[in-house]
Amino acid sequence: MPRTDSSASDPAAPAPLAAALRDLSGVGPKILEKLRRLRIERLDHLLLHLPKGYEDRTRLVPLDAVQPGQRCLVEGVVQGARVEYFRGRRLRVQLGDDSLASLELLFMRFTAFQKNQLAPGTRVRCFGEVKLWRRTLRMFHPEYELVAADEPAVAPAALTPLYPATTGLAQVSLRKLIQRALAWAEAHPVALEHPDWERLFRARGLPGFLQALRRLHVPEGEEGEPGESDSARQRLIMEELAAYLLVFDRLKHKAARQEAAPITGGEELIQALRAGLPFALTGAQDRVIAELRADLARDQPMMRLLQGDVGSGKTLVAAAAALCAVASDMQVAVMAPTELLAEQHYRCFRAWLEPMRIEVVLLSSSLGRKAKEHAKQRIRAHQARIVVGTHALIQKTVEFDRLGLLIIDEQQRFGVHQRLALRRKGESGRLRPHQLIMTATPIPRSLAMTFYGELDSSVLDELPPGRKPVATVAMSDERRSELMLRIREACLGGQQAYWVCTLIEESDVLQCEAATSSWEHLRQTLPELSIGLVHGQMKAADKEQVIRQFRDGAIQLLVATKVIEVGVDVPNASLMVIENAERLGLAQLHQLRGRVGRGARQSTCVLLYKPPLPEAARERIRIMRETTDGFEIARCDLRLRGPGQLLGARQAGEKVFRVADLTRDERLLEDVRRLVREFAQASPAAMDAVIERWLGESRELGSV
Ligand code: ADP
Ligand code: MG
Repeated sequence: MPRTDSSASDPAAPAPLAAALRDLSGVGPKILEKLRRLRIERLDHLLLHLPKGYEDRTRLVPLDAVQPGQRCLVEGVVQGARVEYFRGRRLRVQLGDDSLASLELLFMRFTAFQKNQLAPGTRVRCFGEVKLWRRTLRMFHPEYELVAADEPAVAPAALTPLYPATTGLAQVSLRKLIQRALAWAEAHPVALEHPDWERLFRARGLPGFLQALRRLHVPEGEEGEPGESDSARQRLIMEELAAYLLVFDRLKHKAARQEAAPITGGEELIQALRAGLPFALTGAQDRVIAELRADLARDQPMMRLLQGDVGSGKTLVAAAAALCAVASDMQVAVMAPTELLAEQHYRCFRAWLEPMRIEVVLLSSSLGRKAKEHAKQRIRAHQARIVVGTHALIQKTVEFDRLGLLIIDEQQRFGVHQRLALRRKGESGRLRPHQLIMTATPIPRSLAMTFYGELDSSVLDELPPGRKPVATVAMSDERRSELMLRIREACLGGQQAYWVCTLIEESDVLQCEAATSSWEHLRQTLPELSIGLVHGQMKAADKEQVIRQFRDGAIQLLVATKVIEVGVDVPNASLMVIENAERLGLAQLHQLRGRVGRGARQSTCVLLYKPPLPEAARERIRIMRETTDGFEIARCDLRLRGPGQLLGARQAGEKVFRVADLTRDERLLEDVRRLVREFAQASPAAMDAVIERWLGESRELGSV
């Protein structure tokens, strides 16, 4: 683990563990490339490619005891072998042992060499899955080896690991590579075990790094399979969580050394904002605004995550923070992930702030060239105090005069790396802008630590008064006509409704087609209603227009795709139908449902599904009916899907952690925090090695 002097002083020198991987016998450029795809760039990364299960080949099963469906190790003598023609050539081998029972081995692909090898009288040991076919027990393509006739029948002492495979890297090759890596590591323990680090685990009764790896890669038969609570696994889980905490500590430290222009005033402007509102702020809003103002007043950049369920009133909190910056003569950038959301924010900010003569501009790619130029000019001249937009905002041509505060909404749609890139764009000279990051997907504490570990966090845990929880019902698609009549009644009675069309395909075009045909159908069935349509293929101005008409009440029923998922705020809308609800995840259902229940009226959400409902979908719908609490829903989502997939920006299948699982391991975090503190005191220099071992190329996280 400690680096040699040469590599510590010369950053271009290869890390010894990367070299050790390249030098491993059997590792060429092709294998290296395949390993890289598994995020394996150093020898220790390879060692952390842990088995996903084990096979018991430690026990020889007598032929008369094998069971169909069992994967097992057997040994016997070839009684006969012949090549047959049955849908191609195949080799059929008859195996027998002292029990007089027999087993058939079947090979669809084989070489002449193999055929000669498996001659009658030869003793073979094979491993494979036993299948029953017309009262004959068979193994298809078993792994096999020849055993000398007088050799006593011995099985390996350890369980055989099964690795998560990658295309082009067979189990057998992975097994061999990892065995070699383990042998190398055990011959060079100082390269992987730092005494100060190891001591912390020993003090907790946990095994050393190499000992833990041996236990997991080569579990001795009599000790049994290392389960989830095995101390070897615990040791690695704690170490991985520790690596993340170390990185976040560093980022925090770094931020603490950065400078920002303090923002102090703003009291009068906030008073004026309150005075202009038709409602009072909630207690949570007041508290969070105070938290933000305390942060802003410091000469270090604020880095705060604001979590609040849909409808909790984050925009108003953001506006209050923006007013503070304006009072200190600084500009504010408000960034949203979609045009629609940016427009929505723009409208809110303008409505609240323009009466105070504060200029707000919108910068979005759908503006004409002239309008864009004009907006940029207003920004450069510091006429525009507040700039709302999509990531068009971070283009080079957008020049601020004095950007003091960055507000980023729906941040969870970006990954960790993107977030850091955005932050870098927000820097100007020596000073860093303050940052407020808002998310409407409430994130359980444990997960927040993973993704936003270096941020302080505030929670809007109170909805504005008078909101009634949305009543949620599930309804089979077969009752569609009945549902339409109910919508007709509600709309004629003055309510407004959304009809959301969703498809599993992410194709925008298909989504729009589905929405368009639903719209046509609804218009035919309910001619007395005014029905609008909004989807992602429409021009921004047209979308805007339709939503405005819906807000003004000119449209009673709005047919939409998922574009309305975030940001659209029409308090009078109290009814929502979600088509194909069984195909949506919990987070998305919750976001969509958050569009209703914003006014004083009791709202209803109908989850329309096509029967039969699969088990997982039934469970999601049950959760949606039982709770409207976004945190609770996020917790369930985490339980059902695992943390890797919870955040939209993560690609499917891409795991955040190698061994840890925050749903399962959250209870370890406290001790891990203690461990990190002890380590930082004992051996700050060795921290790099631990971080690199677990985060690999993501190490830049710790050095931004
Ligand atoms: P979100 O947290 O989902 O971004 P918004 O900021 O869009 O929520 O607020 C949702 C709605 O609640 C808006 O119509 C907003 O004007 C309104 N609102 C915000 N704060 C309050 C409050 N304290 N009392 C009543 N309504 C409020
Ligand atoms: Mg919002």
